[in-house]
Amino acid sequence: MRRMPILPPTAEHIAFAAAALRRGELVGMPTETVYGLAALASDPVAVARTFAAKRRPSDNPLIVHIASAADLPEVARTVPPAAQALAAAFWPGPLTLVLPRQPHVLAAITAGGDTVAVRVPDHPVALALLRAVGAPLTAPSANPFMRLSPTAAADIDADLQAQLACTLDGGPCRVGLESTVVDCTGPGPVRVLRPGGVPRIALAAVLGRDVPLADVATAAAAGPRPAPGMYARHYAPRTPLRLAEALGADDAGLCFGPPANPRQVAMPADPESYGASLYRVLHALDALGARELVVQQPPREPAWEAVADRLRKAAAAG
Ligand code: AMP
Ligand code: MG
Repeated sequence: MRRMPILPPTAEHIAFAAAALRRGELVGMPTETVYGLAALASDPVAVARTFAAKRRPSDNPLIVHIASAADLPEVARTVPPAAQALAAAFWPGPLTLVLPRQPHVLAAITAGGDTVAVRVPDHPVALALLRAVGAPLTAPSANPFMRLSPTAAADIDADLQAQLACTLDGGPCRVGLESTVVDCTGPGPVRVLRPGGVPRIALAAVLGRDVPLADVATAAAAGPRPAPGMYARHYAPRTPLRLAEALGADDAGLCFGPPANPRQVAMPADPESYGASLYRVLHALDALGARELVVQQPPREPAWEAVADRLRKAAAAG
């Protein structure tokens, strides 16, 4: 298998990556959340390649990345006042807004629906690449479907990496968890479809009212999905993962106290640091070939919502 280069993000390499994207190739793009699999949003072949490279089901829509909120009219038909307020408060940043789509947005991107998810990433390399291309980019996480998202260039799966023109190395991802996805299209108040980098309490502070978690975000159990792209199992290492109140002395996994053996990792006690290191630590533990990974249950508090969501989905039966 060819190994495509992981390149330092010099001006020359950004220009190289932008040219590849304009030709319809795929590029590994650092963002503050996780590494993205970037493609030109207006190119149906490039978008189809994205789904194929990730082995992503076609009913799972892609997030469109833009360089600034000023580009919103290129993809969104209307931007309700609440969405405008959230964009002004959190962009660039780990917040994705689901909005009515412009008719020209490819159906493959929206999974055939009338809405489009869009965000402005808060990473200098992603923003430089978006500006160099001069057009919106789709960028799902650069991992095979269901698997752990990469939070460092070297964590991108080798088979996937081989399908990219290059990956720009932007260093470790600051947030380390995916964006918060907010549905701004309903008749009712905006709601969170996926907890993520922006806590719900921060959204509520900007809007001056509670922002509920949509049922899909909690009860993404078996059965039909009330929102596209929500799966009970997701973000999972290859090794089976189980949540527990405490780790046994011989378990491999993640704990809060002192590790009882070298296959246990003591995790940070604050949710931001925990989230920033979660996928990197799981990637490393996954390589141990343990029978299972045990994760000590994080505090059941609102600040831990995004971490708890990822752990619950990683532990869900496939
Ligand atoms: P990823 O890019 O891998 O972080 O995942 C993108 C996720 O965003 C999808 O799995 C959906 O959960 C969500 N999403 C994208 N587009 C839409 C949309 N139009 N409506 C609702 N959710 C969406
Ligand atoms: Mg993903």
